[in-house]
Amino acid sequence: MPGTTGTPPASPDAERCPCGTGDAYGACCGRYHRGEADAPTAEALMRSRYTAFALRDVPYLLRTWHPDDRPDEAEVDLDPDQRWVRLDVVETTAGGPFDDRGTVIFEARWRSTAAHADGAPARGVLRERSRFVRAAPEAPGAPRRWLYLDGELA
Ligand SMILES: [Zn+2]
Repeated sequence: MPGTTGTPPASPDAERCPCGTGDAYGACCGRYHRGEADAPTAEALMRSRYTAFALRDVPYLLRTWHPDDRPDEAEVDLDPDQRWVRLDVVETTAGGPFDDRGTVIFEARWRSTAAHADGAPARGVLRERSRFVRAAPEAPGAPRRWLYLDGELA
């Protein structure tokens, strides 16, 4: 089931950002998605990746994935019936501007619009502990970007 071929829903900059900060998308994760800025902390990157899942921005997911664990684009199979409806950051460890690593535990709530005759759940919560690292600079003097390394159910 190709989940990456759907057209991303329009997300006007003025709408509330899906990541739940309360800020408008254009002033929140939108800046990172457009490449105008890099997420300054592991938590900001985590939020922007959640928003990218919600908006089906696969290119952003790939470019914020550490090369060691980055899947091929064809492997990023987003469920077309799944809607991400709420993000709660539970705990963050390190991940600040002066750290090299960070961990974020979060809960992401979803709903499914699929038919549920087969007993599949209509909603659920993903609770994950994600690990982030700051990559080496891509050029001398360039900023070191936060990247998603991996995650496990928490
Ligand atoms: Zn956001």
